Amino acid sequence: MNLRDILRVAPGGRVDLGAIDPAGTPGLPKKAGKEPKVWTRRELESIGTDLASHQERLYAGAKAGHSRRRLLLVLQAMDCGGKDGTTKKVAGTMNPQGLHIVSFGKPSPEELAHDFLWRVRAALPIAGYVGVFNRSHYEDVLVARVHELVAPAVWRERYEKINQFERDLTRNGTTIVKVMLHISFEEQRARIEQRLDDPTKHWKYNPADVDERGYWTEYQEAYQDALTECSTDYAPWYVVPANRKWYRDWAVATLLREAFADLRLTYPEGDFDVAAERRRLAASTSPAKHRVTRR
Ligand code: AMP
Ligand code: MG
Repeated sequence: MNLRDILRVAPGGRVDLGAIDPAGTPGLPKKAGKEPKVWTRRELESIGTDLASHQERLYAGAKAGHSRRRLLLVLQAMDCGGKDGTTKKVAGTMNPQGLHIVSFGKPSPEELAHDFLWRVRAALPIAGYVGVFNRSHYEDVLVARVHELVAPAVWRERYEKINQFERDLTRNGTTIVKVMLHISFEEQRARIEQRLDDPTKHWKYNPADVDERGYWTEYQEAYQDALTECSTDYAPWYVVPANRKWYRDWAVATLLREAFADLRLTYPEGDFDVAAERRRLAASTSPAKHRVTRR
């Protein structure tokens, strides 16, 4: 089974978010059984081990100077859509040393003074790294459109700019996996309520989230257009139903594993003679040679 084929927004096609059930579990295999939550949680551990192994080869390839490859996971969602949870559960299976996780918030005055992709370029993973964007340049065709932060002519031409930007990235060795975590209006309400109920979650609550919720329809339209305009052969969008967190984590981890598998990453070969190095190592163990001589 290839989950990417099931969740991909077909390039050239039009996505209808209303037709995708946020509580659905597309591509979940039959063997998940009657307790899919238990199965996916267990499965996530083994996918996570694979991800860590792929990531290590990616990192090793760059360290050895053989490879410029890198992988970028882009996460977009409505508020409470699960971007933080997915980052923790999925990226958390990999070695922190090879991860580059960046959250994009309201642009600073300096960022606003530059082109919208300026801060994004600066946040890209370098060779060998797995990058995670918690929000991204897509906010510039989402929140910027919904709240009319720029004129329509400006956000409209950004789709093409984004496509060009992503085309350049993929040509230069970046594999891009773009995921929209798709939750329902009702699920968002429940999650906002949970945050209000739990004082240890208040730091995550923002009164503006309830105002943003009032723009739900406008956001869904903006998402539909962004997913439609910017799902390309080189950087397709995937819509992951995200009401069920166990499915969400399993699905995103699986998409990443499939993307990694395409790269067929191998460990770099050493450019030294192992036998000769063994001999040198053996010869280096004589303590007499290193004894500190006193006068
Ligand atoms: P959070 O993800 O909860 O930390 O919130 C980040 C906030 O930054 C959200 O309200 C986003 O809408 C906002 N944000 C992110 N990127 C942009 C952008 N390019 N322009 C305006 N607001 C943004
Ligand atoms: Mg928030």
